[in-house]
Amino acid sequence: MNNRICLWCLKSNPQTTFDKKAHTIPKSLGGQNYNNNVCDACNEYFGNKQERNYSIEEALKEAFNISRNRFLFGQKTKKQVGKFRSRFFDIKTRKNKPRLSIKPAFRLDGNFQKQLCRDFKRGLYKMYFEELNRQRDLGYAEHYNAIRDFARSDRFDMPVFYFVKAVGLFTMLRSEAETPVLIFDRMLYLYSNDKFVEIEFLGHVFGFPTTYVSSDDIKSYINESLKTKQKHFRKFTLIEKLTDIDLALSILDTNN
Ligand SMILES: [Zn+2]
Repeated sequence: MNNRICLWCLKSNPQTTFDKKAHTIPKSLGGQNYNNNVCDACNEYFGNKQERNYSIEEALKEAFNISRNRFLFGQKTKKQVGKFRSRFFDIKTRKNKPRLSIKPAFRLDGNFQKQLCRDFKRGLYKMYFEELNRQRDLGYAEHYNAIRDFARSDRFDMPVFYFVKAVGLFTMLRSEAETPVLIFDRMLYLYSNDKFVEIEFLGHVFGFPTTYVSSDDIKSYINESLKTKQKHFRKFTLIEKLTDIDLALSILDTNN
């Protein structure tokens, strides 16, 4: 227990402490797994409000809770619309499909959407990285410094691609919406290589590099990835704002 090394800052006892439980997927999102290799300082960093008045975990939670509640409650009655309330977004129904828009209070700040998206991406990396370490005992190699730099040190930028499904194709159980999990290599359409990984979380498919990459790396990754997706997916986007993601899962209704 005393020779733990923090996955993020690479410190160990007595330079840092490991007293608190660090949830990999935010508890507020229903996550139940811990990572024992996250020190208290790093755990607090992700959970505490930053200068932007929300924490990295909150950026993640606010976004994914919209999808999670869609799975849990559907959109049956008006009464339940309240369940989709979010700190940052309004969820309106247009043509019987839920649509997400940024709240007016945040619209004036032109930079807000961009910043929120960046922090969401950092949260996504955090969740992936801590689960990767927990499940596969990986993460200390230099290869992953890009993730440490971006998610923990808030340096540089890392691309995250979002793959839009062609049909409401979901392999989720209700219990999984209640307690979301990250299962690696679960579906054949999830592609990964030595520099990129794809994950599916609450019905959403994301792809991103796990290390520093060149634009040629990105091109060949996208090429290979799309081959595995074919008819299951409609398109992909490089996310720049959270409304690029179908968080309200409008696609759920097409098959119901
Ligand atoms: Zn640490």
